[in-house]
Amino acid sequence: MRRSHKFAAISITCLTVSAAVTGCGAAQMGGDASGAVAAAVGQPRPCRIMPGDSGVTVIIGQLVQGAEAAEAGAIRIENGVIAEVGGADEVGSDADGATVIDCADWYVSPGFVNAHEHLAASGGFPDPLLEPVYAHREQWQGRAGPGHYVIEWGRRDDEAGRFWIELRHLFGGTTTLAGGDAVAGLLKNAYYLDEPENEYRADTQIFPFPNATAMFEEYSCPFGGPSPVEPEFLTGAPSDMPFLPHIAEGINCTATLEGQFYLDYVEANPGRRYSVVHGVGLQASDIERLGALDVTLVWSPRSNVALYNTTVDIPRALNAGARIAIGTDWSYSGSYNMLEEFRCADRIDNDAWGDQLSGIDYWRMATVEAAYAMGLEDVTGRLTPGYAADLIVYRKRSANPYDDLIATQTSDVAAGFVDGALLTGYAPSFEAGRLPAQCANRIGEYFVCADYSDYPFDHAGLLAANTDAAPLFSNERQASCGVHR
Ligand SMILES: [Zn+2]
Repeated sequence: MRRSHKFAAISITCLTVSAAVTGCGAAQMGGDASGAVAAAVGQPRPCRIMPGDSGVTVIIGQLVQGAEAAEAGAIRIENGVIAEVGGADEVGSDADGATVIDCADWYVSPGFVNAHEHLAASGGFPDPLLEPVYAHREQWQGRAGPGHYVIEWGRRDDEAGRFWIELRHLFGGTTTLAGGDAVAGLLKNAYYLDEPENEYRADTQIFPFPNATAMFEEYSCPFGGPSPVEPEFLTGAPSDMPFLPHIAEGINCTATLEGQFYLDYVEANPGRRYSVVHGVGLQASDIERLGALDVTLVWSPRSNVALYNTTVDIPRALNAGARIAIGTDWSYSGSYNMLEEFRCADRIDNDAWGDQLSGIDYWRMATVEAAYAMGLEDVTGRLTPGYAADLIVYRKRSANPYDDLIATQTSDVAAGFVDGALLTGYAPSFEAGRLPAQCANRIGEYFVCADYSDYPFDHAGLLAANTDAAPLFSNERQASCGVHR
């Protein structure tokens, strides 16, 4: 699918952007009876779409930019890029003929950057026998010798399956994602292969210490002296690509050594954008090296506790100056979307760390820090001119847009935009449920603004192919987020 930047015309009451931004918007705010009723029950005034024909889009809302509070304003989008951010009047005066999406009472945030996901391995439900009993990933993979229950899971190699999984992440606010097995269009992917479905490039080499249990058998913990093993890299992947490998995924000595040896390698080979995905088994002294070595820790809290019954000491890492990004991993032990991952992160923070983190920490992990891990810090993850217009509109419950995210459900995400194109949303968030014509396909109250002509299935075919897949809008059978040790 190609993301279309043009909205099809629908009947409107405000024809120009200046009228829309000032006249119509103001009249609606003051005099709209349904808006007054909505305000009285604490509901935001619904978003309103006023189509234009210039190809420019203006989004009005409460802009979430990393400051303590959101700021009322507007964003002008041209050719998929944020062209201007400012007051609604000021932005509107530069945008005659624009399509205006007036979500004045809603939060507008950069879309989430999911720094860790395996799309083809994210279609199914967790194994009902999954228990948080593992000491290393190779145990549940069946590669650490006998005596361990091997988790059952399945790949989705069909395009309809991977389209569904990308949709699930879009409805949960993700606009960019690290990992392969993408479909062209929909959200944007970063992967090492130069293929049309990968808009960005990153080496998400999964396991640079393959068969670590056997490889590290002769070493013990604590391990002193120089690292005897170097990570293995993907054949043919340029060595300057951002590198996001699975490291220290477990709690035993093998996991700890992976962390130590990897960070030794990073220290000896600076100049690349490095991350550690998982890092559960990092020893405290290695957690404290992350900041100085400029290694981002990519945190997947639900998957960690579902498999290993614990996770990385995030407050320690933050106090030591580390960057933390966040990602969902896969549906078999991780969160179904980023909103679910925030809830799990916050539950662990409350249960294990005495509430040291808050919504703004998770928001930063899912925007600027994840973009940094993927080398995209100048490209996406901010509402800044020159950045990709990857953003979401979500329900304002309180004056704190970050803490609100912890309670945000898919039905609170009014709309998701990738490169300026409206791709997904929730019809009741819009005035009279009125949406652009290209958003004709619905799943209940949710709409999909996708052109299916580039795919070997239509909307009905998509639904039929995914009746047994992990759901788009609920957390049914999602892995547990409870920590027991
Ligand atoms: Zn993973």
